[in-house]
Amino acid sequence: MSHSEPVIARPEQGEPYLLTPGPLTTSAAVKRAMLRDWGSWDDDFRAMTRDMRHRLLALLGEGAEAFDCVPMQGSGSFAVEAMLASFIPRDGKALVLANGAYGQRSAQTLEYLGRDHLVLDKGDYLPPRGVEVAEILARDPSITHVVAIHCETSSGILNPVEEISEAVYAAGRKLLIDSMSAFGAIELKPSEIRYEAMVSSANKCIEGVPGFGFVIARKEELEAAKGNSHSLSLDVHAQWAHMEKTGQWRFTPPTHVVAAFLEALRAHEAEGGVAGRGGRYSRNRDVMVAGMRELGFETLLQNRWLSPIIVTFFCPADETFVFSRFYDLMKDRGFIIYPGKLTVVDSFRVGCIGQMDEHVMRQVVAAAKDSLAEMGVASAAPPVRALEERARLAA
Ligand SMILES: *Cc1c(COP(=O)(O)O)cnc(C)c1O
Repeated sequence: MSHSEPVIARPEQGEPYLLTPGPLTTSAAVKRAMLRDWGSWDDDFRAMTRDMRHRLLALLGEGAEAFDCVPMQGSGSFAVEAMLASFIPRDGKALVLANGAYGQRSAQTLEYLGRDHLVLDKGDYLPPRGVEVAEILARDPSITHVVAIHCETSSGILNPVEEISEAVYAAGRKLLIDSMSAFGAIELKPSEIRYEAMVSSANKCIEGVPGFGFVIARKEELEAAKGNSHSLSLDVHAQWAHMEKTGQWRFTPPTHVVAAFLEALRAHEAEGGVAGRGGRYSRNRDVMVAGMRELGFETLLQNRWLSPIIVTFFCPADETFVFSRFYDLMKDRGFIIYPGKLTVVDSFRVGCIGQMDEHVMRQVVAAAKDSLAEMGVASAAPPVRALEERARLAA
């Protein structure tokens, strides 16, 4: 398989494409990998866990030796909670950089954990900038950790983690990254950007099925994390120590999900790793956004902030446009889209990740065109208010 032309198999007959940021459309090979049972204590499964951890670490590139990978049962949020609770000491204080639902969720998690924290809330989609982080850290020396969201999936904005990292370490603090929807498609090389730990999950850019997340952290942070966690099952240090000693997960692992994920990791490697995967997703985005703009749709974000993960569009101002009907018409044509999450204006989202290529994205645009025609929407142009809102972002 050539890197420039990944072979994307169509989903099973009748199955729609999921234009959603996970669960997403997986390959038939990934689904087939789940058709056998594994004993969690057996050597074969232990070898699978080992292989998976090595493969994930290898995605960091140069400098990966200083890190280790700890898988954690549950959805992505479980792994985020595990990371926050395990690496921020009980007497620590976190600065959460929020510009959407996932930043808010991290702040809420810290609230539950009883960890002291401060939130820089940039609203729905403004990026937290390095200078702002530097100012807050200079004002508050008690902050020990900064929590950043790599791609804030609620708007699709790709946050500037490099400049955030520079500000954090210039002030002598530590960075934790929620790279859930970016890892595997967007580089996060410790040789280029400094951080202590990051987290992602099985059902995002590696294209596995849902069931576990994983924390990738500096070994010295893993060692120092002993006793920090409030939770038995979400204790990253304990999971790591047990896995290092026995090769096993502490509690029942999602065996079939791990088998599927290994298959997904092999496909990721065959596609050219992070660069290959990110390249396909970027083409997906470029083709889809160009086509949607031709229909009159406008993106919430300017090109500079558009991630290759998911894109937010304003709903058309035309009164004949009703999102729930548009959703159904797109579904009839084989595409599941995603409602928007903005508070100010109506929007919807189209994901670029999963087993889809640019040919599929052209069909998505054609389906949107047909759906608008069937609804009798003459123009997909957004309301003036939406464009004014966006202009604020540029200012
Ligand atoms: C998907 C995602 C999560 C985790 O969500 P779950 O529903 O718990 O899997 C966390 N952060 C970001 C940025 C995400 O995209």
